[in-house]
Amino acid sequence: MIDKELFADLGIPADYGRDPRRPTYTDAADLEEVEPNIVGKPQRLAPSTAQSWRQMKQTAALAGVELLLVSGFRSIRQQTDLFRQKLAAGREIEAILRVNAAPGFSEHHTGRAIDIATPGTRPLTAEFETSKAFVWLTANAATFGFTMPYGRDNAFGFEFEPWHWSQLKLRSKRSASIQV
Ligand SMILES: [Zn+2]
Repeated sequence: MIDKELFADLGIPADYGRDPRRPTYTDAADLEEVEPNIVGKPQRLAPSTAQSWRQMKQTAALAGVELLLVSGFRSIRQQTDLFRQKLAAGREIEAILRVNAAPGFSEHHTGRAIDIATPGTRPLTAEFETSKAFVWLTANAATFGFTMPYGRDNAFGFEFEPWHWSQLKLRSKRSASIQV
């Protein structure tokens, strides 16, 4: 659901959601607490994703790879607050939209997407691509149902996000027909 008033308030173009590359999501109803993130903030995931995450993390650890949680579930409200904080800090809305989906459009609303970090690289930067953790994820994450939707030149128009892994599948016919 697009909140027209909210979009106008934040300066998000009214036709943002008309782009078929941008599916909408609602807040997950069923969530489970997982470990706190790298700055000690409690995090939640959808129960099945929480289970996959724990298994993936343990398997990676056996291979000597440390996977750390940066961000799991984020509500539409939290996404809105994030936009307001960035705008208040002087960021342009166009720049924000290249790295953050508009409220109602983030995979994090579903509790089935996670941002992952590893010791030795700065969280939420392209540096993550150079880590042993990224190489491991590229080879093994699919076994746990995770894919990386925001690769280089991704069909969604987002910047390269090697840290963002999700269990969401492309759902609509329109999304599925996009050539990645
Ligand atoms: Zn993410």
